[in-house]
Amino acid sequence: MMCGVLGVIGHSSASRVLYDGLIVLQHRGQDAAGMATLESGCFHLVKNSGLVRDVFLDEEISLLSGESGIAHCRYPTSGSHDLASEAQPFYVNFPYGLVMAHNGNLVNPDEVRHDLVNRNFRHINTSSDSELLLNVLAHELGCAAQGRALTPDHISNAVLALSNRVKGAYSVVCLIAHHGLLAFQDRYGIRPLVLGRSKDNAGNISYMVASESVALDVNGFELMGDIKAGEIVFIDFSMNIYRFQYEKNVLSRPCLFEYIYFSRPDSISYGHTISDIRRRMGILLAERVREAGLHSRIDVVVPIPDSACHSALSLSLSLGLPYREAFVKNRYIGRTFIMSGHSFRKKSIRSKLNPIVQEFRGKSVLLVDDSIVRGTTSREIVQMARHSGASNVFMAAASPPVRYPNCYGIDMPTYNELIAHSRDEDDICKEIDADGLVYQDLSDLKNLIANLSPDIYSAEASCFDGVYIVD
Ligand code: 5GP
Ligand code: MG
Repeated sequence: MMCGVLGVIGHSSASRVLYDGLIVLQHRGQDAAGMATLESGCFHLVKNSGLVRDVFLDEEISLLSGESGIAHCRYPTSGSHDLASEAQPFYVNFPYGLVMAHNGNLVNPDEVRHDLVNRNFRHINTSSDSELLLNVLAHELGCAAQGRALTPDHISNAVLALSNRVKGAYSVVCLIAHHGLLAFQDRYGIRPLVLGRSKDNAGNISYMVASESVALDVNGFELMGDIKAGEIVFIDFSMNIYRFQYEKNVLSRPCLFEYIYFSRPDSISYGHTISDIRRRMGILLAERVREAGLHSRIDVVVPIPDSACHSALSLSLSLGLPYREAFVKNRYIGRTFIMSGHSFRKKSIRSKLNPIVQEFRGKSVLLVDDSIVRGTTSREIVQMARHSGASNVFMAAASPPVRYPNCYGIDMPTYNELIAHSRDEDDICKEIDADGLVYQDLSDLKNLIANLSPDIYSAEASCFDGVYIVD
């Protein structure tokens, strides 16, 4: 699942830091939230369905005392995960006291479950793949340390053993009683995870791990950089920090959708602000619009807020066209994407986006969205633009056609629901009733991400190219 994770160690008010961090990671998951803190070797755990602000009231925050902790917010999925008992963090007590928060998706959960139950004699209480991951880690830590105090070497061996059993995407934050805070990435580094540090007035150091750097910003932590593919970060309670590769010679393959849609524009990934990456996507898309010969037929560029605004603005500047925020988004409407049922989704787009009619009247408009998934949004907004009097309505997507389901955490469940699955671009254009449709080019986009950093091999792009790297 696409989620938000956080961890902090060595801070006088861990739960406050985690709460403020979760609030700015709320976009990563609105379904459930949880937090575990550690105080004198004892965990306090609070988790429930709902938004961060509803799960943690003053009473919960004061219960969550201690100087270290982890936290999680869960992405809403349409399936069976809607239970509060499957909210994270998860806890196990053997052979170490462990709590874990996980962002990602396992692709071989049945095999992992079978092995855990039948070979390792561990009890699994839920259908969550994160509980599986935690139990594999607990088992492998036990095997590596053989009853001794854990060392960074033991941890490295355990995570390596885990990575040989568990396939998929996992960016993990874990608190180990009497030992410290552990964070690691799968060997492809698909989901984001960053590390930060802060020093208080008395000179005390604390560390924080988070899905996105905005969680560090709001807490005054300085960003140290990304936790990379195959990397472990372990910080003990004396604030000694160990960073090492359990898997060497691997490069990261960050999820393309983080850059297109999911991450906040003010987050920093591999040294680049997401808004800047989106601006560059807009410049690339402008080239495609030019190539299609549409630029001379457009009066105005209109973004679909919020995620398309940065790319639409730079596209309009590239083409020398005016930019108008002509759809106004209601910020209080909540999640339209996951809501099941087509008519429900359609109706909620209407109440989420309202057109400023005079921006459309008599004009030839280019609507820019970050992505077209089911096509529901595009179809609705093309119609709204027409009803507002637009003479021509063109559509551009800052990402390529979404043709395959994503198995690493984005909710794109079935082939049939994807508008681009069995259609070419002309068919899609007809289907959304636009006068022209331009998509981003996949190799342009992959090059953009590959060139962000020498630590990146390429982007994980399976929902666009059907190449699933971890199975
Ligand atoms: P469609 O209506 O084509 O299914 O979805 C496209 C719209 O959904 C775009 O405006 C895009 O910003 C948004 N979108 C893409 N991925 C996600 C997601 O994972 N969650 C939510 N809430 N919206 C998404
Ligand atoms: Mg959108």
